[in-house]
Amino acid sequence: MELNQSKGVIFLAEFRNQGLAEINAELASVGLKIARQLGEELSAVLIGSGTTNSAQELISLGVDKVYLIDNPDFTRYRSEPYLAVMSQICQELQPNVLLLGHTEVGRDLGPRLAFRLNIGLVPNCIDLEMVSESGNVQMTRPVYGGKTIGIFTVENRPQMATVGPKRFEPAPKDHTRQGEIISFPYEIDETSFKKKIVDFSEGCVEGVKLEDAEIIVSGGRGIGCAEDFEKLKELAQILGGCIGGSRAAVDNEWLPSNLQVGITGKVVSPNLYIAIGISGSIQHMAGCSAAKTIIAINRDPEAQIFKMAHFGVVCDWRKILPPILEICKTLPR
Ligand SMILES: Cc1cc2nc3c(=O)[nH]c(=O)nc-3n(C[C@H](O)[C@H](O)[C@H](O)COP(=O)(O)OP(=O)(O)OC[C@H]3O[C@@H](n4cnc5c(N)ncnc54)[C@H](O)[C@@H]3O)c2cc1C
Repeated sequence: MELNQSKGVIFLAEFRNQGLAEINAELASVGLKIARQLGEELSAVLIGSGTTNSAQELISLGVDKVYLIDNPDFTRYRSEPYLAVMSQICQELQPNVLLLGHTEVGRDLGPRLAFRLNIGLVPNCIDLEMVSESGNVQMTRPVYGGKTIGIFTVENRPQMATVGPKRFEPAPKDHTRQGEIISFPYEIDETSFKKKIVDFSEGCVEGVKLEDAEIIVSGGRGIGCAEDFEKLKELAQILGGCIGGSRAAVDNEWLPSNLQVGITGKVVSPNLYIAIGISGSIQHMAGCSAAKTIIAINRDPEAQIFKMAHFGVVCDWRKILPPILEICKTLPR
């Protein structure tokens, strides 16, 4: 796409269960920051069925224009139709900056769209900042498994990035804001798609979702076996929280992969994160360092996690967990 013809910041809004997903307020927040720095408009593309109220909500989050594709064929995310719509929108609107969430949708669609548009993609950004002389956006992301931070710019347009969840403060809502909702008619041609969804089932999540939990009890390799994770689950349950774990716990199949915390797992920001038998690798801490309070239980006083934790207990978790459980059971609910 022509460099000097490209204008505006645009993001793909995520519509789930008849409402806006949480990532939208974060995309609006970082999108607005870049749009202001560029002196350009912020737009969102909203694809789904029954989306009109959500379009208005996007405007209240700071979006100037919402391109709306409201079509029952788009009830669920599907790679090929989304790819077809998004590439057509990008060809027509020629945005300067294109943002997606680093979510299931963005991780699936981003590389496909970048390939289709023949542009670069910087995934999982934790910061975006405009470089004033060049008009390029400086995109910051963890590299080498989170051991260091890389800063990238993209020469072609749109400058495309996926934005990590919980990396930006959500944009506040202003219900008095005015904006434009533009219908973008798009007819799906099913014959042009190679894949067909034959069935869909929601993953079973008991209780609070990990990403939304205020309290997380997280276990690592130090827990030792799947059976002992049950004791951590008991603590999580008593505290009204959620269980999580390190990649080592997931690799050992003590926990399902959707409960992994870290750079290749979920990024969480609970009020309380209790890390038990976790060493505190940089890849794990990248997922939980935003927690307001971290309590670490580890038998090794030199464990890395004690450098990040607000409170630490140097002890075999098997000794300390039973009295903690007893005390927690007596707490008022
Ligand atoms: C590209 C890449 C991406 C990665 N992504 C992630 C990620 O998203 N999330 C993640 O977690 N990891 C990730 N990892 C792996 C990461 O580097 C570590 O290997 C992993 O986090 C270690 O898990 P752990 O702390 O449970 O295990 P360990 O490092 O083995 O630590 C176990 C800890 O338990 C303590 N312990 C043992 N027994 C007890 C006991 N009885 N009581 C108390 N303490 C005890 C030990 O002292 C030790 O500190 C990634 C690695 C790479 C290369």
